[in-house]
Amino acid sequence: MIAHKMLKYVEGSSVTRAMFEEGKRLAGLYGAENVFDFSLGNPSVEPPAEVKENIIKVLKEEAPNKIHGYMNNAGFEEVREAIALSLNQNFGTRFSGKNIIMTVGAAGGLNVILKTLLDPGDEVIAFAPYFGEYNNYVANYDGVMVAVPPSIPDFQPDLNRLGQMVTARTKAVIVNTPNNPTGVVYSEETIQRLAAILEEKQKEYGTAIYLIADEPYRELVYDGIQVPYLTKYYANTIVGYSYSKSLSLPGERIGYLVIPDEADDFENVLNAATIATRILGFVNAPSLQQLTVAKCLGAATDISVYDANRKLLYGKLQELGFECAKPQGAFYMWVKALEEDDSAFAAKAKEFNLLLVPGSSFACPGYVRIAYCVDPAMIRRSFGAFEKLAESYQSGK
Ligand code: PLP
Repeated sequence: MIAHKMLKYVEGSSVTRAMFEEGKRLAGLYGAENVFDFSLGNPSVEPPAEVKENIIKVLKEEAPNKIHGYMNNAGFEEVREAIALSLNQNFGTRFSGKNIIMTVGAAGGLNVILKTLLDPGDEVIAFAPYFGEYNNYVANYDGVMVAVPPSIPDFQPDLNRLGQMVTARTKAVIVNTPNNPTGVVYSEETIQRLAAILEEKQKEYGTAIYLIADEPYRELVYDGIQVPYLTKYYANTIVGYSYSKSLSLPGERIGYLVIPDEADDFENVLNAATIATRILGFVNAPSLQQLTVAKCLGAATDISVYDANRKLLYGKLQELGFECAKPQGAFYMWVKALEEDDSAFAAKAKEFNLLLVPGSSFACPGYVRIAYCVDPAMIRRSFGAFEKLAESYQSGK
């Protein structure tokens, strides 16, 4: 008999993943060419050539006991130093290697920091729509997830509501910009206002409220838009970064946390996060990938492919009368469902072999997410299906 706590996960196992399986089933029935799977945020662009070259280089040049052995739970010191230096060069920050903890992707990093910070009953705030896994990560440590309702139609965080929803039990606020699922990038003004509210609330309650910046999409931005580096606006910020999307390495499971000197209770947070890395069972982030990413700090995937997909799909959806904000970053489009029930709308889309994720999975019903990190030819082939979907609502079919 499995744990009671796990039953609900088994029963409601991630809608996104279930969609992925459904895509495979439909491809078997109708042929892969006739199924349009927009469900998963799996990068379609290959990792930059430097990644493969450096994996080989590391394997050839580094001592085997270094690549394959145990290490400090926070990761290789020279890797952490190299990452700190590159952040300082890019963002004018003043980190050193000690501020960096290597993690098993962003998911690993979020779990490490939530384990570090949360006592049972502590509240963690996120702005809907948000990455649904946050609910599970917060529940892992008996925290309470608090969702700030969406601000429609711009999907910038609703800061007035945030001010009303912070309590003495608020331990952290998670922000994700560029955002999954909306593609929105939070403006500098938004970040400044957010920081001011959190400062004020820390004073009011005499507590520490950590801002957790979940940043797997930092480099995936279009039209030259800037993504503010949050530690510069709010001292009590912890950044979770991942190479899953920026270098197209989701399977390699590599990322890092930045815990700045200015973070509240810095030494304890750093030590606890290092211990959390060990006792959650990761022990340390994968060694080969640590050594590889340190050699690829200037590398980037070719985001022009995502940008072209964005323009192609956005243009068509506009033409068909769908309501959606033009994404500024990440590789997702957030589209208003043509009926109130987003799950029913996604089910209708599936009748035309279109796989879209209902907004309810992101705490925001009434919308669907389209992941456009796919083959551009599939986007073009899908146009007929989107047309039929729109028509089916016009004719009431
Ligand atoms: N946070 C957000 C917003 C994501 O979209 C994802 C993955 O899609 C993650 C975290 C987890 O990323 P990783 O593969 O680095 O664990």
